[in-house]
Amino acid sequence: MAKKILRKPLIGITVNRSCDRRRVWLPYAYSRCLEEAGAHPLLIPPMDPAAATPLLGFLDGLLLSGGGDVAPLYYGEEPAPGLGQVDPQRDALEIALVRAALLRGLPLLGICRGMQVLNVVLGGTLTQDLGKAGGLQHWQQAPRSRPSHTVEIMPGTCLERFLGEGFLAVNSFHHQAVAALAPGLKNAAAAPDGVIEALESLDDRFLVGVQWHPESLRHPASALLFQAFTGAAAAPLQL
Ligand code: MN
Repeated sequence: MAKKILRKPLIGITVNRSCDRRRVWLPYAYSRCLEEAGAHPLLIPPMDPAAATPLLGFLDGLLLSGGGDVAPLYYGEEPAPGLGQVDPQRDALEIALVRAALLRGLPLLGICRGMQVLNVVLGGTLTQDLGKAGGLQHWQQAPRSRPSHTVEIMPGTCLERFLGEGFLAVNSFHHQAVAALAPGLKNAAAAPDGVIEALESLDDRFLVGVQWHPESLRHPASALLFQAFTGAAAAPLQL
């Protein structure tokens, strides 16, 4: 008989550091959405990556939050002129956390930068700066709670099972995007200009990344995504 978890799942959330490295911070919406979906959130500040494995022993899931750019050396590129702020220590910790979570079979949700981190850890690359030429505006001028462009959810994906089929209007605050999709991942949603807006694992594990910010978007699909994630974290580990 499968072991039942009689408590709410405990989900770790990575956080930002200020430019002067003196403060850590996270928009409250991330932890609030996890609580509303039935989980206990736990914030994880930048720390020695060696802590990743012991820390994950206490967690049922990992949420990679949004933030600055991933240092391009992690995907084998030199920095381009359009690269934004990087925090290599945050990168190192998040990469170690993702690797440890994959080994433990923990559910993973990556939001914005977090989706990009998932792609990099699994061997993909990023466009360092989408720039102004062509395509859509991916750094919207409207408030965070408002959608600005549509995405098409790919048929047959887990994302379609969680959110429903067809098109979804999302917010957009990114100047980078997935370039080469990592082996083991598939495109789960795309913007009309072809930018990958969601990815997920090719196998059955819960590994989902979204390029938009569902925690800021007051739309039923946002709650459905956090509920799917929390539900996966509440399920017994299949090791
Ligand atoms: Mn976008």
